Amino acid sequence: MAQPNSAESEGATPWNHTTPVIFTPLFDWPPRPLETIISLSKRWVTVSRNLLFVGMAWMVHELAFQDLSSMQALSVAGVLPIFLRNLLFMATVAGGLHLFFFTLKAQGKRLKYDPRSEHEKSRKFSFHNQVWDNAFWSLTSGVTTWTLYETLYLWGLANGNVPTFTLREHPFAFLLWILMLPVILSSHFYLIHRLLHWPPLYKSVHRLHHRNIHIGPWSGLSMHPIEHLLYLSGVFLHWVIPSHPIHACFHLLHAGISPTWGHTGFNRIQVNKFEIDTNYFHYLHHRYFECNYGNLDMPWDHLFGTFHDGSQESKKRMGARLREQRKR
Ligand SMILES: [Zn+2]
Ligand SMILES: [Zn+2]
Repeated sequence: MAQPNSAESEGATPWNHTTPVIFTPLFDWPPRPLETIISLSKRWVTVSRNLLFVGMAWMVHELAFQDLSSMQALSVAGVLPIFLRNLLFMATVAGGLHLFFFTLKAQGKRLKYDPRSEHEKSRKFSFHNQVWDNAFWSLTSGVTTWTLYETLYLWGLANGNVPTFTLREHPFAFLLWILMLPVILSSHFYLIHRLLHWPPLYKSVHRLHHRNIHIGPWSGLSMHPIEHLLYLSGVFLHWVIPSHPIHACFHLLHAGISPTWGHTGFNRIQVNKFEIDTNYFHYLHHRYFECNYGNLDMPWDHLFGTFHDGSQESKKRMGARLREQRKR
């Protein structure tokens, strides 16, 4: 395991806000059917990120996936609109959240984990500016890799190389894919994230993302190009298992945009009565490093003993686990 410096051990930042960590009850034993139904419904029926991503995927499918004649052969004319669209999505969501939380300070410090208001302006970041650095990696390598994978998928679709089905042919499979995608994304993320904490990969690749301790929306997709290639690679599942193009689009949109939400550094986005949860679980990963490699859609961290809920007990458990690993 990598041994990066810990914000906690430096004692640099006391908490401004904390919250309990609650996993999905989907895999609880003994089963809790009522809680599971309520929890799964909440993740879809209420205004949620998943629902927004389905809406966006449907919109992209209707507007951009209908005429694929330009994708039968790879060309600048075919790829450029995809790149510009993804750039627009990333700039709008990450830029909008940054504007809301950090420029306008519309929520003040309400529900903010870290009491600091400003991002770092230090030599460890390109341009000596954390926000510009994070936006640079997100908009260049991040959007390019996302576009590369989407282009390959559409090229495969246009040439009949990708196995697909229509909603009319298999409505149940269509729904099942939608419900399972967060579980698939979560499992893939856990797997590649564990790999990225293997010391050689951590030092040469993943460290770039972990320079961000006081995170913000632009930190989400601020990754090394190799991490982008690994992180977004889950979409290749659609080359193997038949799915609808909306599923592949959802997969890439979710992987591309949800990190901006997950790195706001706030527990919830609140505008009057409208509110969406962000990602306390992953914030703890940035604070303590060797824990919470996945997210709350799958209990992998519980199963493999890397779960941290922000409490002193979890901190002690993590310390004991790391000491044990160093002895081996
Ligand atoms: Zn990490
Ligand atoms: Zn992160």
